[in-house]
Amino acid sequence: MASKPAASETGDPLLLTPGPLTTSRTVKDVMVHDWGSRDQKFIDINQAVRDEIVKIAGGTGTHVLVPMQGSGTFAVEAMITSFLPRDGKMLILVNGAYGQRCAKICDYNDRAYVTYETPEDTPPNVDEIGRILDADEGISHVFAVHCETTSGIVNPIKEIASMVKAKGRSLLVDSMSAFGAMPIDAGEVYYDALAASSNKCLEGVPGMGFVVCRESALAGTKGNANALVLDLFDQWKAMEANKQWRFTPPIHVIVSLHQAIQEFLEEGGQPGRGGRYANNCKVLVDGMRAMGFETLLPDHLQAPIIITFHKPSDPNFHFETFYNALAEKGYLIYPGKLTVADSFRIGCIGRLDEGHMEGALGAIRDVLTEMNVTNCAPAQAAE
Ligand SMILES: *Cc1c(COP(=O)(O)O)cnc(C)c1O
Repeated sequence: MASKPAASETGDPLLLTPGPLTTSRTVKDVMVHDWGSRDQKFIDINQAVRDEIVKIAGGTGTHVLVPMQGSGTFAVEAMITSFLPRDGKMLILVNGAYGQRCAKICDYNDRAYVTYETPEDTPPNVDEIGRILDADEGISHVFAVHCETTSGIVNPIKEIASMVKAKGRSLLVDSMSAFGAMPIDAGEVYYDALAASSNKCLEGVPGMGFVVCRESALAGTKGNANALVLDLFDQWKAMEANKQWRFTPPIHVIVSLHQAIQEFLEEGGQPGRGGRYANNCKVLVDGMRAMGFETLLPDHLQAPIIITFHKPSDPNFHFETFYNALAEKGYLIYPGKLTVADSFRIGCIGRLDEGHMEGALGAIRDVLTEMNVTNCAPAQAAE
């Protein structure tokens, strides 16, 4: 009965997760070498990656790229603590775990903040942001998450940016799960800094975050940081001085990201990459709805990155069993992280196409039959 499990180009299970994600064989293949961190060959690749990402961001001439070793959160913490002065104050827009994380980072680093929180399925009201900024002169910066990966919601980043600019404050963006797939052109969306990482929509391997910085704003951040390793200003100045990293660079990650960027450009850049993900998302959502599942979000708030589905009310549905059976068939999905509803998530980013989504839907249908689940509607809708 058991057919061969689905697999990536390298025979691995398919990652239907928000990153790390399934990468191409070539992105992994380029790593089977060694490079000297102070050797010209690596220095050139590093510079090319920095220039290409600024170009993808639409910031050539105005913005610079400061890479940061570690996972995405290292880049986010570096961005927050380097851009928000010690006597500054942040307005944090929260509708999920990554907005909450910004507050935690401010707590650890002794930075003042206020939050404007909306439920996980609700974007912030942009006029309300304006009112909060009008009422509190002390707020110097605003932190916004582009796609809140907690739910998969897309926040109105362009409108937020316009409001923050109109009120004369600085915007810091966590675009980790959206950058490369969803439009955020630095010429249209005014921000001082935007953080993302190697292992999300650029489809590289994990190990490096980066911050796209408005150069004029970055130039004014000297002395803000309170951790040497996370000091973006120092990382930038040192890298500008000799094109090298201050401390050991994640060389293989950078070389691999260089390859991933070539593949990103071959796919047509953001419109191409975002188009494939949008199609993946549509195929997945249509197929799941046909089985009776319901999405947390209405389609107009759904980013084509990761989709939250309500847990079925059927008493035979157990997430652990569902997860394990899908894993055996070669599909790794993601647990829910919501506080508003019992749910699970399926990602549609990475080296995956429509065929993989159809395959996942077929596996889900088979697993539901094995589990004897007949009603996929969530409890609240069934009542
Ligand atoms: C993935 C992600 C991050 C970074 O998470 P790490 O686990 O540190 O890589 C930050 N913000 C958002 C919105 C993300 O999706």
